[in-house]
Amino acid sequence: MTVLLPSGETVPALGMGTWMMAEDPSRRAAEIDALRTGLDLGLSLVDTAEMYGSGASETLVGEALAGRRDEVFLVSKVLPSHASAAGTVRACEASLRRLGTDRLDLYLLHWRGSVPFAQTLDGFAALLDAGKIRHWGVSNLDLDDMRELTALPGFCQTNQILYNLTRRGPEHDLLPWHVSAGIPIMAYSPVEQGRLLDSPALASVARRHDATPAQVALAWVLRQPQVCAIPKAGSASHVRENARALELRLTPEDLADLDRAFPPPAGPTPLAML
Ligand code: NDP
Repeated sequence: MTVLLPSGETVPALGMGTWMMAEDPSRRAAEIDALRTGLDLGLSLVDTAEMYGSGASETLVGEALAGRRDEVFLVSKVLPSHASAAGTVRACEASLRRLGTDRLDLYLLHWRGSVPFAQTLDGFAALLDAGKIRHWGVSNLDLDDMRELTALPGFCQTNQILYNLTRRGPEHDLLPWHVSAGIPIMAYSPVEQGRLLDSPALASVARRHDATPAQVALAWVLRQPQVCAIPKAGSASHVRENARALELRLTPEDLADLDRAFPPPAGPTPLAML
């Protein structure tokens, strides 16, 4: 299952997040094993950020991907406080050093701060010219911000946003806008950082398919085209479980049950972020 970027390139619909990795030295080997297992299973979209562990997540990702860089579509993010033209270039170069690579496949503005978009886009343009990033995009931008951004020159490849069964606000207007603009979204926290997994409604749908709540939550996010999901899993067994979500097809009955438990938005809902 893949998602088409405006560039014409496809990326795996199911990838891997890395926030909160590298926080506990006793978990390090398991986290590296989780990421390598994911690559073996084709979950080759890997998301990190300079913010995560103040660079420690990128360093761990670099270690996990050593010798396998070409298999990966590697995503990182610049903090808004670094997102001036020159600051974006500096932040990216530091990320590349930590990741042990010469290029990012996708570089995102982590959220909108006080720096005007045009300055950040100048930084992205310099990085594209230098071959240090292959594409750029944004994160946590609501509809008005996306409209403002896409009126500027350049090609935004994605908007990484909070989207899962308990966070359906984007379905009202942001997701339809993305579909019509041909810009995919990347759903972060697709299992609501684990809080979603105790839901009786998810358990009941999961039982019908001999699946798990995590698989149902991920299959639900991935039910629509042009949406990626990047769950973070800290063990190879969770990665294997999540990868099987790609085989799960939810039925109209499943979707109706999930709509009852997690109603779609009744009107405009400001984009939430974690
Ligand atoms: P997720 O919704 O991916 O949840 C992660 C949690 O779910 C972890 O505690 C993990 O546990 C658990 N989990 C994952 N798979 C399973 C499973 N099969 N069974 C049981 N538990 C499971 O939350 P995140 O906030 O981490 O979001 C995913 C990624 O999105 C981040 O890691 C980051 O890369 C990105 N992100 C981006 C943001 C942005 O502002 N752009 C904001 C937040 C996230 P365990 O570790 O034990 O496997």
